[in-house]
Amino acid sequence: MKYLSTRGDTTPRHFCEILLEGLAPDGGLYLPQAYPKVDAATLARWRQLPYADLAYEILSLYIDDIPAGDLKALVARTYTQATFGTPAIVPVRALGDTGLHIEALSNGPTLAFKDMAMQLLGNLFEYELGRRGEELNILGATSGDTGSAAEYAMRGKRGVRVFMLSPNGRMSPFQQAQMFSLQDENIHNIAVEGVFDDAQDIVKAVSNDLAFKRTHKIGTVNSINWARLLAQVVYYFAGYFQVTEKDTDQVSFCVPSGNFGNVCAGHVARSMGLPIKHLVVATNENDVLDEFFRTGIYRVRKGAETHETSSPSMDISKASNFERFVFDLLGRDGARTRELFGSQIERDGRFELSPAEFARIAEFGFQSGKSTHADRVATIRSTWERHQTMIDTHTADGVKVAAERVEPGVPMIVLETALPAKFAETIREALGREPERPAGLEGIEGLPKRFTVMPPDAAQVKAFIAEHTGLGR
Ligand SMILES: *Cc1c(COP(=O)(O)O)cnc(C)c1O
Repeated sequence: MKYLSTRGDTTPRHFCEILLEGLAPDGGLYLPQAYPKVDAATLARWRQLPYADLAYEILSLYIDDIPAGDLKALVARTYTQATFGTPAIVPVRALGDTGLHIEALSNGPTLAFKDMAMQLLGNLFEYELGRRGEELNILGATSGDTGSAAEYAMRGKRGVRVFMLSPNGRMSPFQQAQMFSLQDENIHNIAVEGVFDDAQDIVKAVSNDLAFKRTHKIGTVNSINWARLLAQVVYYFAGYFQVTEKDTDQVSFCVPSGNFGNVCAGHVARSMGLPIKHLVVATNENDVLDEFFRTGIYRVRKGAETHETSSPSMDISKASNFERFVFDLLGRDGARTRELFGSQIERDGRFELSPAEFARIAEFGFQSGKSTHADRVATIRSTWERHQTMIDTHTADGVKVAAERVEPGVPMIVLETALPAKFAETIREALGREPERPAGLEGIEGLPKRFTVMPPDAAQVKAFIAEHTGLGR
């Protein structure tokens, strides 16, 4: 399998060429030249496989530049019970007889679904950098989930260092403890005296210094990375097998969405032939995507229009993976995709599909819905009272929207994107009690912390990176 860009550059690229890159040179996102199709016989065979073997089968359809034995070993090392808590890796449980099911994607080291992809990325990076004899210094800014997932994936990995900026004192004590308690030499936490945007601005300033970026081999692990998306395709198959008996049965998925990475992986699974009836996009008060699926208008929000909510990992103003789906929706017309994302969004901050283009959305199975803080609290409470199941705020957005869309005879799988332990404040508000915490994390706030506080000054961050990469200034 080779890869092309959503904005018209069809120069074929291999998986490992795009693994360590961000955007394509023309500003688009990478996608495979075509989605490999799986037939009923293949599904029947895959149904029998343990998670890591299933992951290998799917990944090997998309990766032709890692020898089979190496890829198999790498995947087997990634998806283990030791890392993800259960032999099923992504166990599905039913919510009574409502037709709703919850697929647990959050039993990895940082208690959020980003571990599912990031753990694989850590092993892929180590493998590819080792093979090239290169090093990579990952620079990022985080307000929570992404940064911690990246650090837990890259800790102790050869050839990789992480420099993660966060707003000093503004993460929850649990999230801070998770990141700052890491003692690995290749992980560097920088607590910036400012807000998240200050941290983000420093990352941009450092990345815009091209000479520094090259000398110090600066890279990122953002959500547009194709390898992350590919890793997520696997659990759509694994979830499907757990709630169906026949390989023609249909299911729907409901996905708490922000940057559209997670549900885009569902779109890839459906495009491969997995019998998915609907892909239901659930948003919080930041409803860019719900608006699009209702109206065909995509309108990027301004910073001041982006709400801070109790499902913070879905607080986005534009959905960075969305262009991938629109490219497919437009019949893979790179020129039209470039016109919408490269021109209209840049110029007007919005675009509108033609009626004919909008009409195609139904063929792709997409639906959407929205949830608010009040919905979230009510859903956490009712799920606890009726099903003795405690869900986090993001998953609650999914359950709320899924309940509006579930159809008789079609199981609806809600993807659980985080555990309630990460969002204690809203759990207390909804249930008047503390969230359950997985074994081993009880005293995490008391562990010794390793981090450096810095003023919001790009020059000081650069000096810190230079000092710790041993590459001079
Ligand atoms: C990142 C994240 C999301 C949003 O996922 P996208 O792939 O950006 O749509 C939802 N919930 C949680 C808990 C997350 O960490």
